[in-house]
Amino acid sequence: MKKALVIAIGLIFFGVTAKAQHFPRANCTTLVGDAMLKEVDTTKQRGVSDNYRTWANGQVILVKFMPGGSKDLRNKVMAYAKEWEKYANITLRFVSDTASKTHIRIKLGKGSGHNSAVGTEANFRPQSTQTMNFDTLFFADGDYYVKKLEAKGSKPPYSLNQLITEMRIDPNHWSIPEMRRVVVHEFGHSLGLLHEQSYPGAVNWKRTDSIYNYYRETQGWTKEQVDFNVFEVSSQFYTNGTSYDAKSIMHYAINTWETIDGYSVKQNYELSAGDKAIIGALYPKDKKESALIVPKVDISNFGKLSVVSNTAKGGLSIYPEFDLKTNSKLGQVYVVARLADEDGYYIKTDNQYYNWGGTAATYLKMNLLPNSKISYNKTAKKNLELFFPFAQMPELYGRKVMIVFAVYLDDVKNGQMDKLMYFSTTTPLSVTK
Ligand SMILES: [Zn+2]
Repeated sequence: MKKALVIAIGLIFFGVTAKAQHFPRANCTTLVGDAMLKEVDTTKQRGVSDNYRTWANGQVILVKFMPGGSKDLRNKVMAYAKEWEKYANITLRFVSDTASKTHIRIKLGKGSGHNSAVGTEANFRPQSTQTMNFDTLFFADGDYYVKKLEAKGSKPPYSLNQLITEMRIDPNHWSIPEMRRVVVHEFGHSLGLLHEQSYPGAVNWKRTDSIYNYYRETQGWTKEQVDFNVFEVSSQFYTNGTSYDAKSIMHYAINTWETIDGYSVKQNYELSAGDKAIIGALYPKDKKESALIVPKVDISNFGKLSVVSNTAKGGLSIYPEFDLKTNSKLGQVYVVARLADEDGYYIKTDNQYYNWGGTAATYLKMNLLPNSKISYNKTAKKNLELFFPFAQMPELYGRKVMIVFAVYLDDVKNGQMDKLMYFSTTTPLSVTK
């Protein structure tokens, strides 16, 4: 049985062995799969940019570091990240570690892989959790440590453990080009950019065991993670009319043996002309709004997700607390509360009315004005209730359930449906009459 992951889990992607002469390089993974639950969100999330996850044009994005990382390392990360400000109308404002509300939170550490939430997907994550990981082990200057090992008479291939040992003896020799590349790439994700290799038709991957084995050995990925991180193809919509850009900093390096036609891509270390163009189009400096703007809802200040057993009405009353903001484009917004069991499996149903994609659920379609702000359930008087009548599913009595709250948007005009705008879960609670 496939488990529906309803709880955000920390994915650990970690290169474990050295394949060749050099030390392994960690490929980046976006954190999409993390909160995103493939079974919830069946739409494809990847492409050149996810316009539903971009920040507002001109936004000051607050960034902080989670505990860890030397001052020197932090200064480098900040400087490299700011490269995007030259081309995008955003400000990355680095604030103190103690700031209680930030948009992007960076963890510098070992064993996490490199990854980032895509754009405003960072909002799904609690303030106590990072939205971006840098695996400092992979910032090490491989050539430097190889030379040290050679001097000691070691022969390739070298293992990761050898690298770690050398780093302990003689730390802080970084590969500046690699560190800069990774920081710029991850911050590209944090602004809404996706992997360029997912451009439709760009790469004819050989979907063979050898590829799955390669990524398992070098990155520690499961088959599912390889499918998601490597093979995912975006919809044409997300390309924003751009052409495929093999020089993009958002492109993985590809070996000839990984493709049917021997196509390969070298690691890119600089922002390409295409990268500068797309980020400038998403966040234009000379216009108030991007021409690529799509309907979005911004959910912020999410508070309690109260669930009460409402005996008078005979069901569960669910009151999510949040602020909602719309932009200038109108989409159809659904607030959805799905039921999952205490182990995190969605409760299946064929009920005609209380059903969201085959899962027991209650939902509301909201009519919203453009450029508006509204607070829900922030005062004593509740103004948004999702109600699930017990009579619809009497088999739930006495069981423990979790409520999985989500906000979806249908961009009917562009034919882009079911965009996940927010996501949160409760802890398990008992269903009683
Ligand atoms: Zn990436």
